[in-house]
Amino acid sequence: MADNVNPILVLVDVDPSGAPASSTAALIGAASAIGTPIALVVGGGPDAAAQVASFGAATVISEEGDASLLTVPVVDALQRAYESVQPDAVLISNSIAGRDVAGRFAVRAKLALAVDAVGVSRDDEGVVAHHSVYGGAYLVDSAPTFGAPVITVRQGAVEARAEAVDDTVFAAATGPFPVSGVAASAGPVEAVEQASSRPELRGAARVVSGGRGLASKEKFVLVEQLADALGAAVGASRAAVDAGYIPQSHQVGQTGVSVSPQLYVALGISGAIQHRAGMQTSKTIVAINKDPEAPIFDVADFGIVGDLFTVVPQLIAALEARKK
Ligand code: FAD
Repeated sequence: MADNVNPILVLVDVDPSGAPASSTAALIGAASAIGTPIALVVGGGPDAAAQVASFGAATVISEEGDASLLTVPVVDALQRAYESVQPDAVLISNSIAGRDVAGRFAVRAKLALAVDAVGVSRDDEGVVAHHSVYGGAYLVDSAPTFGAPVITVRQGAVEARAEAVDDTVFAAATGPFPVSGVAASAGPVEAVEQASSRPELRGAARVVSGGRGLASKEKFVLVEQLADALGAAVGASRAAVDAGYIPQSHQVGQTGVSVSPQLYVALGISGAIQHRAGMQTSKTIVAINKDPEAPIFDVADFGIVGDLFTVVPQLIAALEARKK
């Protein structure tokens, strides 16, 4: 580990089955652009280290974890890895679990915390995090005045991917390690059968969102049909959530989920600043709205002024026809 130039420590999110989360490739890709990615996997399954290596980590440190204990054991493991690696920066997914670990670790290690970065780079003084703020109206940079920054990276925001290296070093942190302080526990952990085969909203490459313009829960099915035709996740505006068209977990925006997909399709959404805050960094934005003055068109790359109940079925039919 000592030979790694500009080491960047990456904490891998692990799902309850022990598999690395979908955010892993982008985190390692971001790390490889600013140094040498050293990945830490806590509580991963038997194949987790090899999977993480395939994303381009130069070193994969694996540590056993107790899935019933929340946050603290991961912070402990991160602290051990940090002391051993002495990285230039620590990259963590901006997931719910990732944010929890990042905050605790930054306080414990007395390091600067930069949250919800949409990219990272390096200048003469060290690692810089890039953020999209005020509803995506400004891009700002943050960098610590001392020490390595702890940076949470928005899922889906980083496109860079690292090449797998031939000589990945696999290191096992050998415990058992005592858990410091009081750790909250949850259990037993049980995998729940997914009711939907659609991608998860956070980190999805494509998102189709519906707003108040859908007019009812029954008609909101049109959003799901277009999402399925595109292999996309389903999102919504707060107005659609408040009207009961779809559960709150699908809300995109300031008080919902922030997404940064390759493609974001907004159906019957006006484009209020609070909605744009959660989707404005999407790579390509398509809006369908019957009001030509709707603010969503200010951020859209492609816009259709029309009745979504006329346009969307035609779109679905065209997409299905292309698959044949
Ligand atoms: P509307 O603004 O009512 O827009 C509906 C649109 O549908 C209109 O533009 C209309 O022209 C169009 N339309 C209607 N019928 C059709 C049709 N047949 N075909 C095509 N177009 C049609 N909002 C969020 O989305 N996410 C958040 O996280 C969020 N957080 C908030 C936090 C705070 C503190 C506050 C105050 C507000 C927040 N909001 C949030 C609410 C936000 O301000 C807007 O009220 C909301 O985004 C509006 O949702 P909408 O665009 O679906 O509805």
